Amino acid sequence: MSIISPLAQSLTPYVPGEQPRTDIPWIKLNTNENPYPPSPAVQPAIEQAIAHLPLYPEPTSRIVRQAVARRHGLTEQQVFIGNGSDDVLALCFPAFFQGQELPVRLADITYSFYQVYAALFGVPAETCPLDDAFQMPVDAFCQGPCAGVLLTNPNAPTGLSLPLCAIERVLQAQPDCLVLVDEAYVEFGAQSAVGLIDRYPNLLVVRTLSKSHGLAGLRVGYAMGQPPLIQALTSIKDSFNSYPVDRLAQAGAAAALADDAYTQHCCRKIIHTRAWFTQALRERGFDVLDSMANFVFARPADGDAVGLQAYLRSKGILVRHFDAPRIADRLRISIGTDCHMQALIEALDAR
Ligand SMILES: *Cc1c(COP(=O)(O)O)cnc(C)c1O
Repeated sequence: MSIISPLAQSLTPYVPGEQPRTDIPWIKLNTNENPYPPSPAVQPAIEQAIAHLPLYPEPTSRIVRQAVARRHGLTEQQVFIGNGSDDVLALCFPAFFQGQELPVRLADITYSFYQVYAALFGVPAETCPLDDAFQMPVDAFCQGPCAGVLLTNPNAPTGLSLPLCAIERVLQAQPDCLVLVDEAYVEFGAQSAVGLIDRYPNLLVVRTLSKSHGLAGLRVGYAMGQPPLIQALTSIKDSFNSYPVDRLAQAGAAAALADDAYTQHCCRKIIHTRAWFTQALRERGFDVLDSMANFVFARPADGDAVGLQAYLRSKGILVRHFDAPRIADRLRISIGTDCHMQALIEALDAR
């Protein structure tokens, strides 16, 4: 007998990238945060919401659902809001996968939190290997029954994206299960599947304000799909936590979503920085995958990613390494400002 449940004892939790002390001027390129501040509309919106803090927030985050619906040409009934997209992804497991007996299908190299949720919710997971060029195993996703497909587009940590026709192929091959498309990085250049929602009742598109909107600290993410999917998520949410998104987060998120011009402006700057930084790494012998995200996945010429990570750390620059098969010789480097990336290149040249 133990006070701790067998489940809690068995879990291997997700390990987020290091959040170092903020009193040291790190150049932080390890967790894909946006180097630019959020829209200037966010601060006054949050300040106004303070007066209403004695009251519980609106449980479905209606003002955020309205802002998402307006931005993507959907109805409020097609939008679900969560406390970061990790919250939304977690709720998807009991809403769509738990108790189906069949496994959820996902790539072997992708966002590692999916496996953590699968273990937490007792959902078996079937991994399909990326091909030698790190492309998504679309054919394997299509073959045979499963409880659902988890697809990250662009994928993390590779940054490679899929064309919409590939996603449609999965949607058509798996009409009886949920196809979840995690678009955490889609605003940095990939094609969104949002336009397919009206045609596919099995499509759920998940997004976050953490990367593209400079609001990782606010914790707001959302899902978009046909109303029955949104109702299933709402029913799970209301069986767990009625108020996952607080008043300040709702006010800030709605303001940020309404200022699309600002978001596009910041994303364009990051795309521009990514282009010259990728080229600069390649000129220095790195193998760099063609990223459509706000990071690059790069292999130094000698394959010693761990040594390079330690060297960069000694220069005050944090990047992410994954000690996993096939990718241990690479680093995931978030795209910061031009200044940040110049500092990294200078550190490489000084080595
Ligand atoms: C960062 C990330 C998330 C989590 O985003 P939050 O909204 O901050 O919880 C989800 N999926 C992928 C692929 C990510 O990279």
